[in-house]
Amino acid sequence: MSKVIFPTYYKNFHCIAGLCRHTCCRDWEIDIDKASLKRFDKFPDISSKIKDGSYILEPDGRCPFLMDDGLCYQIKTYGEDFICDICREHPRFYFERDGKLYGGIGLACEEAARVVLTGTEPFMLEDNEPIPCDIRSFVDETGSVSDKIDRLAPVLTSSYMRSKIFYSMEYLEEEWIASLNRISDIRPTREDENAILEDNNDFFERFIIYMLYRYGPLKRLAVESALLVADLIIAGNDPLEAARMFSSEIEYSDINIEEAKSTFL
Ligand code: SF4
Repeated sequence: MSKVIFPTYYKNFHCIAGLCRHTCCRDWEIDIDKASLKRFDKFPDISSKIKDGSYILEPDGRCPFLMDDGLCYQIKTYGEDFICDICREHPRFYFERDGKLYGGIGLACEEAARVVLTGTEPFMLEDNEPIPCDIRSFVDETGSVSDKIDRLAPVLTSSYMRSKIFYSMEYLEEEWIASLNRISDIRPTREDENAILEDNNDFFERFIIYMLYRYGPLKRLAVESALLVADLIIAGNDPLEAARMFSSEIEYSDINIEEAKSTFL
């Protein structure tokens, strides 16, 4: 396998496990890879909690192996190498571009969101790999992030319509739906959104760079997503929580991210 190129901030990411307020070991259906399924067959304490290739979640949505101290029974009992691929890899993502393999960490993980969006080092890739051109030109442009957003892609959607578009998609958390409802009640103007962008300039610069890195030429998706996060802040969410919710609800649902990509082409 070719070498994976990560942003330099990747080295700063470590799972905070028991300290995590939105653990990834809850609510998400885990598709266990074939090799792990075969390995688990020899361990009745594990295989008894698997059905149709996924862990049988507890009634409250917890993974059956998530212990009260926030740690994982499988890791504690059998070591880090024992767990299935998806648990080992989350929140990492990978993609290919121009024959190279790139990696990153997704904002659905609150610790990854903190590392990606509140770090201070400029966006760079490991081993001095060149930064993609659209990110380079976004970084090099002068002006505030709201000026840069205006130049990056036309915004064709009002906050009201944007909230309705995302409201129509599948969802995980009730708070997501409640926040979208508050946005459609408030109907923030572009001036309201610009005030939030200006108050959180570096955060939104880093958010747009994350989107451009992950989704390449989909500039409008980056812009509309940033404005949705601004609207979520106006609706009462903390910036990191707004970005985490957006990522968890949209990026980490295959159906939703495909719909968002085709809507905001
Ligand atoms: S969401 Fe992130 S910090 Fe929380 S348990 Fe999962 S990997 Fe660890």
